[in-house]
Amino acid sequence: MPTKMVDSYGRKVTGLRIALTPRCNLKCIYCHHEGEVKPEKEISGEMVVSVVKAARDLGIRSLKFTGGEPLLRRDLADLIRQMPKDLNISLTTNGIFLAEQAKALSEAGLSRVNVSLDSLKPETYAAITGCKEGDLEMVLAGIDAAKENGLVPIKLNVVVLKKNEAEIPEMIEFCRRNGLILQLIELLDLQSLGVSGDIEGIEKSLQAQADRVSTREMHRRKKYYLDGAEVEVVRPMDNTEFCANCTRLRVTSDGKIKPCLLRSDNLIDIGTCDCERIKGLLREANERREPYFGAKDRLCPAAR
Ligand code: SAM
Repeated sequence: MPTKMVDSYGRKVTGLRIALTPRCNLKCIYCHHEGEVKPEKEISGEMVVSVVKAARDLGIRSLKFTGGEPLLRRDLADLIRQMPKDLNISLTTNGIFLAEQAKALSEAGLSRVNVSLDSLKPETYAAITGCKEGDLEMVLAGIDAAKENGLVPIKLNVVVLKKNEAEIPEMIEFCRRNGLILQLIELLDLQSLGVSGDIEGIEKSLQAQADRVSTREMHRRKKYYLDGAEVEVVRPMDNTEFCANCTRLRVTSDGKIKPCLLRSDNLIDIGTCDCERIKGLLREANERREPYFGAKDRLCPAAR
């Protein structure tokens, strides 16, 4: 399916990220809530199916479900079953309910998962997420279940914070041992909490140790290979290259198309579930895409 949406900066749109619910069972201290301000309702399953079918007709190839916590949606496996079969479908989850759902999700057609886990130490994990006792063990069991059910490659999402930066070498080792890809994410400090860790310093050290470095098409993210471990680094802040290579549209948990994580003034309400109408709205959202960081000149050189 050729890409049919290219924005006026020359950037292709090939991915859709849908927040299925604003509800979450954790309260991470830094959460950006996928850039949502005050979701008014929860997107219906029918709308999710319609928007994905419309997006697929416009050349979307990869679909990511997020939240809130997507595993709290009782109709999740059912939704995945209704997705077009030629899409790569992934999910980002805190993993707490993954062990009990991995088999059903895999059978429904989920390709892989990202599991958010900011610490392997129970006290640090609790201090960051406000979790209940036993939740960390449930995440670890969830990772095992995802592996057993072929939801691979599994990425471990770690937001780099002052509270966990010293743990990164241990995280790398954990991922190496368990065949996971470590994804180190720069904190978007929307609430000016000042809790960000030194991701720049960590990346320099990865650079120095790496056997090989590759660059992904999306956002030009760097991936470091270190003695069997794979570490991807996601650094959007003030990063013009990141924005110039953004290939994503988003849908909020209350059914609005969102052209950029960091903007809430250009959303488009989906309203009804008519696929042809939604295609028009997706095209309009594509027209509203602008690189958040960097020159707003049309046709970014990096995207040509
Ligand atoms: N509950 C799911 C989870 O934990 O993955 C999905 C929602 S969560 C908002 C999706 C991802 O965004 C997680 O990996 C989380 O760590 C990341 N995230 C949340 N707030 C962030 C922030 N302020 N800066 C960077 N990443 C953030």
